[in-house]
Amino acid sequence: MARYTGAVCRLCRREGAKLFLKGERCYSDKCAINTRKNSLTPGQHGQSRKKVSEYGIQLRAKQSARRFYGVLEGQFFKYYEMAERQVGVTGENLLRILESRLDNVVYRSGFASSRKEARQLVLHCHYTVNGKKVNIPSYLVKAGDVIAVVDKFKATDKMKAVVEANGSRPAPKWLEVDQEKLTSRVAQLPNREDIDLEVEEHLIVELYSK
Ligand code: SF4
Repeated sequence: MARYTGAVCRLCRREGAKLFLKGERCYSDKCAINTRKNSLTPGQHGQSRKKVSEYGIQLRAKQSARRFYGVLEGQFFKYYEMAERQVGVTGENLLRILESRLDNVVYRSGFASSRKEARQLVLHCHYTVNGKKVNIPSYLVKAGDVIAVVDKFKATDKMKAVVEANGSRPAPKWLEVDQEKLTSRVAQLPNREDIDLEVEEHLIVELYSK
């Protein structure tokens, strides 16, 4: 399946929730989900869709999570299988794996304005993990790993603009971010309460368990 290239705000409207796909704009009054007119489900019959089946509810939960992290269907299912094999609650394991992706950690640390931008910048080798350049957005970080912006990129106008724009966005408590050095240490992998995704993850598990 190809990556979605259409209007991303439409995805938020479809899910009826902010998915933070557009960087700075998502935190401003211009966010399309904040205006009543635009927050309606997109499409000609958007307003008339009322009754949703159990399957529909589970599907929406899965799509919300998948779009929030910008992951394609096949990869998302692989994460689910990985989560199922781990000890603990499968839904929580799944979210923890998604949060551990390098593109997400870069975004959460404030080193990119959105996950999409983080993915691009990771692909261009602008970050290191434990001192080594990593250009794989799906790379899964572990507790104790240190993510850093490479020196050459630190000095660019692009990075300065990103840091300025994201300075007010607090990093989650499981990441120890040094705004001066532009490093981020994974103090621990997040628990469910540390993850701000408003989705009932057990619905995703129910969907895949059918
Ligand atoms: Fe979603 Fe609002 Fe960001 Fe658009 S601006 S992607 S509607 S959160």
